[in-house]
Amino acid sequence: MKIWVFGLYGIVSTTAMTGAKAIEKGKAPKTGLVTELPEFSEEINKTIPFKFKFGGHEIRQLDKNGYEATLYHWNLNRHFDREFLDAVKDDLSEIRAKKGTALNCGSAMEDLGEIDYLEKNEKLTLSDIVDAIEKDIKEFADEDTVAVNVASTEPVIKYDKQYHDRLNDFEKLIKENKKELITASSLYAYVALKNGIPYINFTPSSGASLPALKELAEKNKVPHAGNDGKTGETLAKTTIVPMFKYRNLKVLGWMGYNILGDLDGVVLNHADNKESKIISKDGVLEKILGYSPFTITEINYFPSLQDNKTAFDFIHYEGFMGRKMKFYFIWDGIDAILAAPLVIDLARFILYAKKKGESGVVKELAFFFKSPMDTDVYNTHEQYQLLVEWFNRLKEK
Ligand code: NAD
Repeated sequence: MKIWVFGLYGIVSTTAMTGAKAIEKGKAPKTGLVTELPEFSEEINKTIPFKFKFGGHEIRQLDKNGYEATLYHWNLNRHFDREFLDAVKDDLSEIRAKKGTALNCGSAMEDLGEIDYLEKNEKLTLSDIVDAIEKDIKEFADEDTVAVNVASTEPVIKYDKQYHDRLNDFEKLIKENKKELITASSLYAYVALKNGIPYINFTPSSGASLPALKELAEKNKVPHAGNDGKTGETLAKTTIVPMFKYRNLKVLGWMGYNILGDLDGVVLNHADNKESKIISKDGVLEKILGYSPFTITEINYFPSLQDNKTAFDFIHYEGFMGRKMKFYFIWDGIDAILAAPLVIDLARFILYAKKKGESGVVKELAFFFKSPMDTDVYNTHEQYQLLVEWFNRLKEK
């Protein structure tokens, strides 16, 4: 299968590419891949063999190839054994990003260093940008292609009912060149869905979550899913919170303090870009518990941590006879190592969905997301159950 990646030279993307290619060559284990669990692996490998071709859009390091972009992150983070990178050097060297759009991606983008994007120095209209993105994707895509957004987190989109609710109006927005009302991730999602390409939004950015784009997916019978990969603190949280619920223990307050380095940390250190992430992390408690305890959610940049992310969580809760007690945990993860296998899993699951005739939001993929679309199921255990049941249903088709 082919995967078109928005944010191709980021650390999540380059780690996914390295891992996928290393596994393909039999050099790396399949640990961390949900699709390789016994519940899924036989059927998935029969339908979608473990063989990937990558391409995508970028706004940084466009003079580099996929190997050089991966090496950049590896030199900073040493996040996997060098032997894997050496084993796939030739495959990654063949990958070259196309120039994407940075439309309304926020003040943080300038901090990423020399960035180069379609609308820079040129008077391109939205229609021109859409055409350019579309040309790149069409040149790459075949029947077995999906698109995945792992570009930097954007500021929250200025939601406008008049243009975002219906497909006709969204297309009017493009024609009328209303640049202030659209972000890069939603333009990318538009082009993917318009061309029948299943789309995954691994970020909290708007992507395909605008009603107009959901309408487009339904109209073109394309499956899509998002938003924001559930890989670290939120994964632990949505797995632990049900324990309090099942035992009728009352959560009084939950503090989550996250520190991280690397490019993602630089971006999330900007208030406008950070807001999307906090909304995404914060919502889960109420969804699972049915009430909203007091919360503090903080994300801060901590340069020397690089791609390691540490989350300190403190939970204050009440038990029998109103007795107050405390629970603490520390999550110490390597972000890209947690996220990369999910990119591969999601790409395979969404292509599987397409092959089985699914379209619109695939809410059964909620298991993978912090802010799953069109569902109220946030409990990881329930989400996993739904995923397995959905997969078994499709298998029978
Ligand atoms: P990163 O900064 O290493 O990579 C992002 C890449 O996107 C960069 O190479 C950047 O140049 C590129 N980019 C930015 N705007 C773009 C645009 N408009 N078009 C094309 N490319 C663009 O970040 P990362 O750690 O790889 O994370 C990627 C995304 O995944 C972030 O939005 C992050 O919040 C999200 N995410 C990551 C995790 C995780 O790592 N565990 C979990 C959930 C969500």
